[in-house]
Amino acid sequence: LSEKTADVIDRWRENVRGGFATFPVAIESAKGHIITDVDGREYIDFISQFAVMSFGYSHPKILQATVNQLQKMPLTGTAYISPLYVEFAERINKKFGFDRIATMMSGSEAIDAALKIARKWGYTVKGIPENEAWIVTCDQCYHGSTLATMPLATVVSKDFGRHVPNVGPFGPSSRKLISFGDIEALRETFEEDGHRIAAFMLEPIQGWAGTIFPPKGYLKAVYDLCKKHNILMVCDEVQSGYGRTGKDLSYQHEEGVQPDIVALGKAVTGGFYPMSVIMGKKEVMDIVSRGEVLSTYGASPPACAAALATLDVLEEEKISERAERLSVLLTKTIKALNPPHVLEHRGGGMYHTLVIDESKPGVTARRAAALATLRGVLVGNGFNRLRFSPPITITEEDLVKAIGIIVQALKDVET
Ligand code: PMP
Repeated sequence: LSEKTADVIDRWRENVRGGFATFPVAIESAKGHIITDVDGREYIDFISQFAVMSFGYSHPKILQATVNQLQKMPLTGTAYISPLYVEFAERINKKFGFDRIATMMSGSEAIDAALKIARKWGYTVKGIPENEAWIVTCDQCYHGSTLATMPLATVVSKDFGRHVPNVGPFGPSSRKLISFGDIEALRETFEEDGHRIAAFMLEPIQGWAGTIFPPKGYLKAVYDLCKKHNILMVCDEVQSGYGRTGKDLSYQHEEGVQPDIVALGKAVTGGFYPMSVIMGKKEVMDIVSRGEVLSTYGASPPACAAALATLDVLEEEKISERAERLSVLLTKTIKALNPPHVLEHRGGGMYHTLVIDESKPGVTARRAAALATLRGVLVGNGFNRLRFSPPITITEEDLVKAIGIIVQALKDVET
C-alpha cells in the first residue's frame, strides 16, 4: 500500500463503523467503468457497488440532467409536488404497467414499505386477522439491512433482540425452508398456510446468493400460485433491475408475469442522487394513505431528473440487450481461458458468478480477488464465490481484459 492509501485506510479504521468496504483501495474519482485511486492507479470496476453503477460513473446524459436540476432547485423532499416527480411517476408506471409509485431513499426502505402495504392488504382485503398476516420469502434471499428487512433473509443475526414477527423464508406452520426455484415447496406452503399468507417476496434472479437464475417456468408458476391463493407477488428488483440480468426487470424473463408490487433502487438514478421506488396496481397501493409510505428525501427534483435521464439511457442505449450480448462474450472468454478451481460458472446478463473450489491450500475466492485488485480489477468476492457485475456500459475490450486478469489470479493463487 502506498503511504497515501495506507493513511486513508488507517483513518477509516479509526473513525468508521459501518459499510462494507471490501478492498484496500482509497478511491478518488471514476469515469465509465474505470475507478482511479488516490495514487492515480486505475482499476476496472467489475462490481459497480453491487449493481448501482450499471450505466457507468458519470454517464454524461444523467450527469447533465442532474446538474441542470441542481442549479434550478437542489434538494427538497416529498413535501412538495414537482412536475419532474409527476413525469417520472407517469413514465415508469406506463413503462412497466403499474398505476402508482411511492419513493424512498434506499432499497431497504422500499422493501419496508412493500411489507407495510402487503400486511395492510392482508388485514383489510384478504381478511387475515390482525397481526397474523405472514410475508414469506425464500432461502438465500437478501432484502435489506434494517430491523424489518433482515429477518426476511435466511441468515438472521440474533444480536439485535426480537425481529419483526411473521416473516421469513419458511412455511409458517412447517418451518421448512423454502428453496429458491423449488415450486413444489412453495405449493406445499401455500396449501398449508395460504389463508394467512399476505405476500410472497422474491428476487426473481437472486443476487446476494450469487446470481442464481431459477429453473425455466418458475416465475410464471409462482405468479399462478400467488393468484390461486390470493397472495401478493412482491418482486425485489433493487439489484436485478434496470438491465442487469438482460431484461429491464428480471421477472420479464418469463411471459405473463405481472407482480403486485415491485421494488427498485440502486441503478434507478444512475448512481447520482439516491432514490428507491415501489410500484404497484392501484388496488394494492391505495390500501395505504400517502403519509403511510414516505421518506423525507424521496423524489427530490434532482433525483427525479436523474431517474428520467436514466430511463432514457436504459432505452436509447438498449442496456438490457447490451447486457445479454456482453454475457455471451463473457461466457465465451471464460470457457476459452478455462480457469482452474472453478466448481461452477453461472449467471446471465452482466450478472455472473464463479463458485470456487477452496479445498486446496491457499485457494480462496478472497485471495484471488486480492490478487486481481493488485493487477487492476475490483471483483466481488465473498464465501467461495467471485462475483461479476460490471457497469453494463463496459467496453468489450476491458471486459475481456478484466476476465484475463481474474483468470490469471486464479492460476496464481495456489502457492
Ligand atoms: N434488496 C436487494 C435485492 C439488494 O441487493 C439490496 C442491497 N444490496 C437491498 C434490497 C437493500 O438496499 P439498500 O442497501 O439500498 O438498503
